[in-house]
Amino acid sequence: DAHRAPDYLAGLNPEQREAVETLDGPVLVLAGAGTGKTRVLTTRIAHILATGRAFPSQILAVTFTNKAAREMKERIGLLVGGAVEGMPWLGTFHSIGVKLLRRHAELAGLRSDFTILDTDDVVRLIKQIIQAEGLDDKRWPAKQFAGMIDTWKNKGLDPAQIPEGDARAFANGKGRELYAAYQNRLRTLNACDFGDLLLHPIRIFRAHPDILREYHQKFRYILVDEYQDTNTAQYMWLRLLAQRSQSSGRASVPAEGRASDSWPGDASPAPAQASAGRRDAAVSANEKQQINICCVGDDDQSIYGWRGAEVDNILRFEKDFPGARVIKLERNYRSTAHILGAAGHLIAHNEGRLGKTLFTDRVDPEDGKVVVHAAWDSEEEARAVGETIETLQRPDRNGKRHNLNDMAILVRASFQMREFEDRFVTLGLNYRVIGGPRFYERLEIRDAMAYFRLVCQPADDLAFERIVNTPKRGLGDTTIRNLHDYARARDIPMLAAASDIIETDELKPKARKALFDVVADFKRWQGLLETMPHTELAEQILDESGYTAMWQNDKSAEAPGRLENLKELIRSMEQFESLRGFLEHVALVMDAEQNEDLDAVSIMTLHSAKGLEFETVFLPGWEEGLFPHQRALDEGGRAGLEEERRLAYVGITRAKRNCHIWFVSNRRIHGLWQSTIPSRFLDELPEAHVEVAESDQSYGGYGRGGGYGQSRFDKQEPFQNSYSTPGWRRAQQNKTDATRDNWGNRSGHAVERIGYGESGPRARTIEG
Ligand code: ATP
Ligand code: MG
Repeated sequence: DAHRAPDYLAGLNPEQREAVETLDGPVLVLAGAGTGKTRVLTTRIAHILATGRAFPSQILAVTFTNKAAREMKERIGLLVGGAVEGMPWLGTFHSIGVKLLRRHAELAGLRSDFTILDTDDVVRLIKQIIQAEGLDDKRWPAKQFAGMIDTWKNKGLDPAQIPEGDARAFANGKGRELYAAYQNRLRTLNACDFGDLLLHPIRIFRAHPDILREYHQKFRYILVDEYQDTNTAQYMWLRLLAQRSQSSGRASVPAEGRASDSWPGDASPAPAQASAGRRDAAVSANEKQQINICCVGDDDQSIYGWRGAEVDNILRFEKDFPGARVIKLERNYRSTAHILGAAGHLIAHNEGRLGKTLFTDRVDPEDGKVVVHAAWDSEEEARAVGETIETLQRPDRNGKRHNLNDMAILVRASFQMREFEDRFVTLGLNYRVIGGPRFYERLEIRDAMAYFRLVCQPADDLAFERIVNTPKRGLGDTTIRNLHDYARARDIPMLAAASDIIETDELKPKARKALFDVVADFKRWQGLLETMPHTELAEQILDESGYTAMWQNDKSAEAPGRLENLKELIRSMEQFESLRGFLEHVALVMDAEQNEDLDAVSIMTLHSAKGLEFETVFLPGWEEGLFPHQRALDEGGRAGLEEERRLAYVGITRAKRNCHIWFVSNRRIHGLWQSTIPSRFLDELPEAHVEVAESDQSYGGYGRGGGYGQSRFDKQEPFQNSYSTPGWRRAQQNKTDATRDNWGNRSGHAVERIGYGESGPRARTIEG
């Protein structure tokens, strides 16, 4: 049957199918969790490719994480039945941004081998600038200013555009100057920060309409997932790429309504001068080449407001892309009715919502309610979660057993992870930490990376300063300052300055000798860059520099772990082709690739769980002050609370079948034991879809008017208040005692730990 729909369309519901098949014109899919938004995007790309409407290279698709991008690529391949040859423009805003910027670096005053600075580098650079201005960096902390710059960049603001009040708020009104000085310094260093990965392309597009036009011709289809979490800069970037109308005279003209509709410096070209008739002609001439943008999102899952995300971008969409088709998906394919019921009831407590319906026609009497558990403290919590996981792993009555891969522990704050990791190591349960302790932020890794960076990019002064006297080479502050001045005076990088200065007698003999060796080392390593396999070279650099020896001679308790990490660093490079490729990867703080072979429980923060789904989800730490987080409440007030609630909604809706929520009565905060109050979110769950774990029944029930009543909301300082129910406490204690002895250590289990910016699976086996 020639008219039969292609297989990839067959399973879609009518609304999904509309979203996939409406290829012409702007489309906004606004829908709740698990309704198939991501699936729609993936299928849409497959459809574009299968119908020959565009080449893979003509599709620009933005995902929230690199991991999501890789998965999407794989699925597209499956849908169109065959490997997709490249999808070079499928990635995160940052990874696409860096690609664009490498192509046009010179237009931003950079060379194409520019370095991407991470937060730590940025802070050190800003500190130097603050000091150079003669300001007291204790009074005006670099870290604070780095935060301000980040906020401005998220809003797409250049130094000249920052609000007067903001500029005045820092360093006696020098905010603007410092920001400008920072940008200049970045340029000198041939470097940029994360914000620049978007802002430079935006500037380039604005200043060079011909370049923008090239991309208009190139990107025929633009797709964006997790649209609710785009910030203003990202939105500006998207709008530039998607609104060809501005330069080609197509009908849509950006709305010029309220002042807040345009951003400072948002130079919209004058509306097309053409008469209506001529414009229509232009439309038909361009029709085939129009840019078709499709964004999918859920306002209830906007959880990055604290990082500048603007959920209002959803509301702007219809205004900025006139004639947009708005499609709602209401059928949830992911979760049981209980899970949806619980999540829906909870999120209904938020006020600022667009409001959506979610239903499932999945009816299975076997489906359990969401289970709330109480524990004495976090150790007990981890122990009990571990126990539940072990139970799930064993075959049940029907012989069904759960894979560890199907389970996830989603925490509010990363410090919560430690306890679970400890427990799982003891139990011999495999686990992986995703987005957790950032491997690349560890001291020894940063030092090693500085060596590698300097070899690849000799102008990287920050890297130079980081390692020139690490390990100690007797290069004191005075020498470094001399070197600094020498470099500044001649406007050359510090490594080049070092190379010059050792030919003079400006330094004391000892320092001169030390510096001579450093320069010689780097020259040698640079010479090997093209010839030697990069992992070998990396190892050699760490050995010859004395860096490895420094930790070998270190007697501290952390030293062995650091050496192990350095080894892992080298291992993780193997999958890259060059040191440069690896450095770029690290700079982008990729999320880790998962080792699919290893059956393992995932541990991650709620923030990094966005878009994912698991058979069983554990949500520990539902206590006032932790979740909702005190900082969100203090800094964000009502909006902060609502964002926390959305985070809870995201957490619950990750579960397909089982959702276990935990709270503890006592938690150690900053080394001090504190009694806690159960989270207000627990009270916001509907009794119809939630039950208290059986073993916790003596606790006295939970829910509205239940065991702990409502009075706790009157209490002002959550962690100061004591809440306890002796009966429940005893029950917990008994349970603990009864089971503790059964848990022995096992040997030979694997633990996979995946850092936030890590290149790939780094499994290490821990001897039990
Ligand atoms: P989130 O808001 O959490 O990102 P989402 O709207 O992106 O969710 P998806 O992840 O695309 O939802 O889909 C949720 C689950 O439902 C996935 O397992 C997906 O494969 C499945 N699904 C989506 N649409 C269908 C369908 N038409 N038939 C069967 N399963 C579907
Ligand atoms: Mg999704």
